[in-house]
Formats: sequence, C-alpha cells, structure tokens
Amino acid sequence: MTTLVPCPLPLGADDLTVWPASTTRLPHGDLAVGGVCLTEVAERYDTPAYVLDEGEVRTRCRTYRDAFAEAEVYYAAKAFLSRAMARWIDEEGLGLDVCSAGELELAVTAGFPPERILLHGNAKSPRDIAGALRLGVGRIVIDSSSEIARLAAAVGPRGRQDVLVRVVPGVRAGGHEKIRTGTDEQKFGLSLTDGYAQHAIARVLGQPQLRLTGLHCHIGSQITEVKPYVAALRRMVGLMARIRDSHGVVLTELDMGGGHGVAYRPGEPALDPTALARALRAELRAGCAAAGLPVPRLLIEPGRAIAGPAGVALYRVLAVKRTGSTTFVAVDGGMSDNPRPALYGVRYAPRLIGRASTADPCRATVVGRHCEAGDVLAADAHLPGDVRPGDLLAVPVAGAYQLSMASGYNMVGRPPVVAVDGGRARLLVRRETLEDFRSRDIGG
Ligand SMILES: *Cc1c(COP(=O)(O)O)cnc(C)c1O
Repeated sequence: MTTLVPCPLPLGADDLTVWPASTTRLPHGDLAVGGVCLTEVAERYDTPAYVLDEGEVRTRCRTYRDAFAEAEVYYAAKAFLSRAMARWIDEEGLGLDVCSAGELELAVTAGFPPERILLHGNAKSPRDIAGALRLGVGRIVIDSSSEIARLAAAVGPRGRQDVLVRVVPGVRAGGHEKIRTGTDEQKFGLSLTDGYAQHAIARVLGQPQLRLTGLHCHIGSQITEVKPYVAALRRMVGLMARIRDSHGVVLTELDMGGGHGVAYRPGEPALDPTALARALRAELRAGCAAAGLPVPRLLIEPGRAIAGPAGVALYRVLAVKRTGSTTFVAVDGGMSDNPRPALYGVRYAPRLIGRASTADPCRATVVGRHCEAGDVLAADAHLPGDVRPGDLLAVPVAGAYQLSMASGYNMVGRPPVVAVDGGRARLLVRRETLEDFRSRDIGG
C-alpha cells in the first residue's frame, strides 16, 4: 500500500475558475462539462481522451468579436484544428491563420472561406505557397527576404497577391524563452532595428505581383500584460509613418498577432481581451493622429485564448509509486499527447474525478507513460492521498498546443477529440490505432 506525503489543501484547490464556464459538480466527485459527465466520456471513448466544450470555444470567439468590434480576429489554427473547429470559427465570423498547406487544406475542405485565411511561416515550402495561391488565401505574411521574389514568381505576371510583412519590433515578452518572438536572435520575421524590415518592404513594393496591405508582428505567446503590445504597436505605427515618408505608400492594415495568455492553474494571471482591445485602439488612434496617418484596420490572431480553456484532458491512473520523498502518479498519456511541460516547463492542475475521496490531500507528481524522465504533467499536483490505479484524472486548459503538437512517440497513438455541448457528446477525431501506425509503415 502506497501512502502519499500529506500536505494542507492550498487555498482555492477546489476552485473551478480555470475550467470551462459550463463545468458543474456532480455527486461522487464527478464533473460535467457542456452538460456531459466526464466519467461517462472516459467510459464511452476510453482514455486518454480530449474533451472540447463547443460552447466555450464559441463564447470565446464572441468575446473577441465584441472586444475587437472594428478589428478582424483570426484564430491561430496551430493551437488546435479539426474540421468541426474550422466550422465553429467560420460560423462565429472569425478568420483563420494557418502555417502550412496541411492546415490550409483541412480548413478549406471543411468549407472555410479561403479569402478569410492568412498564411504564415518562416520557411514556407513550395507546396505551402502553391496551395495558398491555388486556393486563393486572403493574405500571405512574408517572413524573409528570400521569399519575396519566390512568391512574386509563383503568383505569375497576371496575378496579384495581398501580403503583409512580418516585422520584429524589438519588444521582449512571453511566458518562456522558447515562445518569445518579439526580439532579434530568434528565427521569425524581419528586424526593425537592423533595417532588414525596411529593406524587405522596399523590395515588396517593387514587385507588381504583390500588394503590400500592411505590417504584422507577433511578439510571443502566453503574454499576460497589455504593455508589451502597446509598445510594439507604437513601433509599428512609427514604421508605417516612415514607409509613407520614404515610399509615399499608406498601409491599410496592422496585424498585432496573438500570444494572449491564459491561466492554467487557479490564481494565475490571464490577458483580458477587452482591456487589450481598449489599449490598442487608444494607442493606434493617438499614434496615427500624431504621425498624420489614417487609422489602419487592426488584425489580431489569438490561438491559445480561444482553444486552450475549452479543452479538458482525461487520463486513467496506471501506477502510483513512491521514491524518496516524491510520489509519482503515472497516467496512460503524457508527452505524446501533451509535449508542453517537456518543452516549456509548464504545469497543470489535474483533478481526481469519478469518485469522492475523504482522504487528506497530498502533493504528487503526475507523470506520463513515456520513456523520458521529463515526461511530467504536474510537478506539484494536489490529489487525494488515496489516489490509486484505476482512478480518473481530468486536466483543464488542455485545448491548445497539446493535440496539435502530439506525436507518435512509443506508438501509444494520439487520443480522440470529443465535443461536448448541450448535454451531448460526439466524436470529432477518432483515436489513432496500431493499424494507423502499421498502415503507414510499408515494410520495405
Ligand atoms: C502562434 C501564433 C499565434 C497564436 O499565438 P497564441 O499564443 O496561441 O495566441 C498568432 N500569430 C502567429 C504569427 C503565431 O505564430
């Protein structure tokens, strides 16, 4: 019998603030999301499984639409994309930001209007560019100088493609070094400080096949403050004024990217989209007035803030082990369905569901089943002291950058995605099976 190290329940450990708004408590320690009992989802679809609250996704889209009423909101598909997700985003009136021919094709074949799609990528392949032009995406964001002539040639003599140029504004922000993209010495965009951005802009303006509609920047991810966005916007407006002065060109769009932070555990800060919208709007008006520029249309690209809090991951406990002072609770998923803890050191707040426990809460390290010591989901989880194999754990804020980054490691297979809404559950993406692995492996 394994005993866990007792610890006092931290303030708010039972709070559901980071869970979807539809979450309710059921008897026997259970929770319902979207009116569906999570234990029933686990039984019906097996574990690990990902639950996506459709209502939460839609509400988050509407919050953005309302906050950024005169702007255009593009959902960053890389956070999570499926055909149903593309449909919800379309129905809520958002655009879509994609980074590959794969994301693009999936969205368009699901019926997403290509003119509301924007293509990113620091290394766009010929296939990405050909796909974007063939399907007619609204805009392509140029990320490097070498891309300019290549894109113009692909457009051909009679075509014209709307483009933005991605600028590195030199603003430091973001939850972790690996997701900071606002400064030099990282691979994205063209630097404002060393003049590459200005140089690239002049070259784009010299290409009759390309129509420069505006500038883009994306300073990082999991940012919880408004200030770095305002600082970046000020620099972007300054560059727009210099473009007007040196080229006589007035740009009509300014894309401030995404990166809006969410709380993964109760008590953590999140970025308020309404406060961000207000601050950006004010700075844009003031900056443009001072520079004598017409106010451009603002674009933003939230990914995590739309999908993240709408997702819940369900795992089954397979083993409980004590080593020295640490208690490991090992579950049937891990870094193959969620590589974020290993990549960025982020931590989650898992919760026991499916049975009520009166045992004292204990501090435990929830780990995955993979062959890496870094396969840790939650280093300091608070779980009932009698947690045992067979228990179910639910992890909130699992909707972004988990399944979209999932891998085939250990041939465990990627989990299914189950949508919940109005008391009904339905499968969106089925579980990856051994047959999927086998059928790709043609033997040789
Ligand atoms: C990743 C990314 C986003 C979305 O970032 P979130 O942190 O998910 O909001 C938006 N725009 C660009 C260019 C990105 O690379």
